[in-house]
Amino acid sequence: MNGVISDRSLPVGSNENPLCIFHSAYFWSAFLDFIRKLMVAPDKKIKLTQFDPADTLGHDDDHKTQDKLQKTIKRLDELQDLLYAEKKRALLIVLQGMDASGKDGTIRHVMSGVSPQGCTVTSFKVPNSEELAHDFLWRIHKAIPAKGMIGIFNRSHYEDVLVVRVHKLVPKVVWKARYAEINRFERNLEENDVKILKFFLHISREEQERRFQERLHDPRKKWKFSKADLKERKHWDDYVTAYEAALSRCSTEYAPWFIIPSDHKWLRNFAISRIIVETLEEFDMHFPKSPPAS
Ligand code: AMP
Ligand code: MG
Repeated sequence: MNGVISDRSLPVGSNENPLCIFHSAYFWSAFLDFIRKLMVAPDKKIKLTQFDPADTLGHDDDHKTQDKLQKTIKRLDELQDLLYAEKKRALLIVLQGMDASGKDGTIRHVMSGVSPQGCTVTSFKVPNSEELAHDFLWRIHKAIPAKGMIGIFNRSHYEDVLVVRVHKLVPKVVWKARYAEINRFERNLEENDVKILKFFLHISREEQERRFQERLHDPRKKWKFSKADLKERKHWDDYVTAYEAALSRCSTEYAPWFIIPSDHKWLRNFAISRIIVETLEEFDMHFPKSPPAS
């Protein structure tokens, strides 16, 4: 960014007071870094060992960060209101990560200030027989948010090149073709005003173990514990390979992947909410001047 702050990175309404411009530009510029640091460049070959899951990106877990997070979440609420009012485009947020990487927690924290009316959350499980009788994108397309909405995917079409690849649920020739199919699908969505952000919640094996232990021993978390997760953990290296392929082949300008260091939940929430807010600011939205024609 070379220290240049575009108007579009400023909160709407911040230009009412010149002093406020300075303050806001200064405040928001500190966050442009998240997109730059965490986005996977198109065609870049990813090795996950080169990314530290415990990275804090120079931030501290203190009241200052908490304060910034709260401001970001408040801003997200305002921007979602604008998105909903304009109804010109949709935002799709894809969350992927190993078991216990924090997909549910991200939804709970990051979307905490947002009106439920403007949001849909879809959790993709093992496909049922009707879903299996269709192409793998059929159930995904049905869940794409309408214009004005934010849609969140807890798991997604990427499972069809992750769990499906790791467990050889379809022949190699089938899953291999899916990277290009996914890119075409996502481009089509982008051309139809759906902005896509994809977050890979990157945790270490040790942190996963710690969270599984917590699930076993904390009465409030026991319900989340699953023996199937322990079985999946044995395939950790295969999942890493499958994730590296998905991140390397399907991060595009129109639907970028972000690798979010997620061993620290506070940093994960902070980074994801900042990237969402930055993206919505770029839309340069305005409230409609007149009511819709009846
Ligand atoms: P959870 O997110 O813990 O509720 O688990 C959902 C499960 O569904 C995970 O084990 C996923 O791997 C699995 N799953 C999701 N999508 C697919 C898919 N397309 N094919 C096979 N399994 C899937
Ligand atoms: Mg699970």
